[in-house]
Amino acid sequence: MTSYEKLLQENKAWAQEQVEDDPDFFKRLSSLQSPEFLWIGCSDSRVPADKITGTQPGEIFVHRNIANMVVHTDVNLLSVLDYAVNHLKVKHVIVCGHYGCGGIKAAITNHDYNQVLNMWLRNIKDVYRLHRNELESINDEELRTDRLVELNVIEQVMHLSKTSIIQRAWQNENRPQLHGWVYGLKNGIINPVFEMDAGTPIDPLYEYDNL
Ligand SMILES: [Zn+2]
Repeated sequence: MTSYEKLLQENKAWAQEQVEDDPDFFKRLSSLQSPEFLWIGCSDSRVPADKITGTQPGEIFVHRNIANMVVHTDVNLLSVLDYAVNHLKVKHVIVCGHYGCGGIKAAITNHDYNQVLNMWLRNIKDVYRLHRNELESINDEELRTDRLVELNVIEQVMHLSKTSIIQRAWQNENRPQLHGWVYGLKNGIINPVFEMDAGTPIDPLYEYDNL
């Protein structure tokens, strides 16, 4: 059996197990989803949103990309955010990074990864530049990278608050709460590093006054 055929076989076994545990499982989920959370995580295969949070299908709406970035020109991310906030009415948006992130490590090298990847990693280099003094005062390379992972998550949460999608929802519905988390590959524990409640003041430069 090939590796991908094994996936299909495992899928059949999983589907059968779900129905044995709960005969209405698929009937209920196929009619609606009302997740309370939007998860913006890293594509890294070691950080599966549902497994590490013990959540079931239907509970988390998920977007993943390299290094869990919120890039203000990313139509994919913004569409997911718009749908989650305005249609699914999520109460929480979680940006979850992870220590040892390959995207973060790549961004602090001087290696040419060719265009497209260079373009994406450039967003992380910009975060490094903003926090250069703090980062360069850390001598240990692993600790410096881990701190950049945390700072990057904080920066991406702030990027969320700069969108009109979030600002309008904050003003009209007093939600969602924004969270910045970092997952530890070595111990499986999530470290909450940052939070923004609805209405938290932001840099006025990014505030819309005609929402
Ligand atoms: Zn990663």
